[in-house]
Amino acid sequence: MKTRQIVLTLIAMIALSACAQTQFTALEQQQISIEDPTLFEKSDAFTVDFASGRDKDYCFPLPVGKAKLMSDYNVEIETTRGDAVKSMFAGVVRLSRHSATNGNVIVVRHPNGLETVYGNNAENLVKSGDKVKAGQTIAIVGTEKGRTFCRFAIMVNGSRINPSIIFSLESHRLRQQLVLFQKTANWKVNVSVMKEPVVEKPESVQWWAYPLPGAKVISPYGKRGGRRHTGVDLKTTNRDNILAAFDGEVVYSGVYSGYGNLVRIRHDNGLETYYSHNSKNLVKVGDQVKAGDVIALTGQTGRATTPHLHFETRVGGQPVNPNTYFDHQTHTIRLEAFNKKRDGYVIKR
Ligand SMILES: [Zn+2]
Repeated sequence: MKTRQIVLTLIAMIALSACAQTQFTALEQQQISIEDPTLFEKSDAFTVDFASGRDKDYCFPLPVGKAKLMSDYNVEIETTRGDAVKSMFAGVVRLSRHSATNGNVIVVRHPNGLETVYGNNAENLVKSGDKVKAGQTIAIVGTEKGRTFCRFAIMVNGSRINPSIIFSLESHRLRQQLVLFQKTANWKVNVSVMKEPVVEKPESVQWWAYPLPGAKVISPYGKRGGRRHTGVDLKTTNRDNILAAFDGEVVYSGVYSGYGNLVRIRHDNGLETYYSHNSKNLVKVGDQVKAGDVIALTGQTGRATTPHLHFETRVGGQPVNPNTYFDHQTHTIRLEAFNKKRDGYVIKR
């Protein structure tokens, strides 16, 4: 009994979600300009990021056509007879019918909140409820008084918006930007382009590198049993690339008792770094290395129970917790542990 109820509930839920995606009311299938009751349900504004995600998947309705913006925000895209009209974004056909003013017309509702309108078609090739992809042919362009064109528009909540905010009329390209749509009185919509997000520019030359990208800490620095663990144990896979943490000079490369194969690098920033248990060292004493250079491969030489990198940071010969300089969760440098000088970074003492 209980199982049957669950199954029935599930079926009802599936039917409901399918309904929300592909079924429209009689009015929605009839009227070109109509409010979308779900659009501003949660908030009076929403954004569409045309620079990323699926809204980048875009197609100009008539790729070879010539677009002209009319005063009512319709775009007439003139082309040659028989051309295919394509859906601008992925979506669901809300309306596909003949109207007195628009001829054969299609409206596609897109998940990003926009609706696109394609009028004056010779033939509609989709019907209400059809799912379409960006670039899918939905109609054949029509001819009126000797001119072959598609009457195209973009609507939000039933009102046409200036389409040249979304794409270039000349190049047909989508403008890759973040656009804000705000509800105003009498179901109009304000459209504004948000300032491009400021992307922090990475330094052209990275002055540091995490020694074992993707690694997990399997044993931290500090007390371990009765003795002190002088470094941090980092694990990925056997024979993985070990990177020099900073620019520097190799001052040791060879076997060193319990360390097994060890590489020691002296850096101008005041640190020395140790990389040990390597299956193979790829540098020799005297080599100048850059941050991020591959200096060795991980292994299990010396006193080690599993292949890993034992990584040490030392100041004046004394081990310091590598956690002072690197965040092992995010695999990034701790800038607060360094002072920026004219010719680079040096550790704080
Ligand atoms: Zn260790």
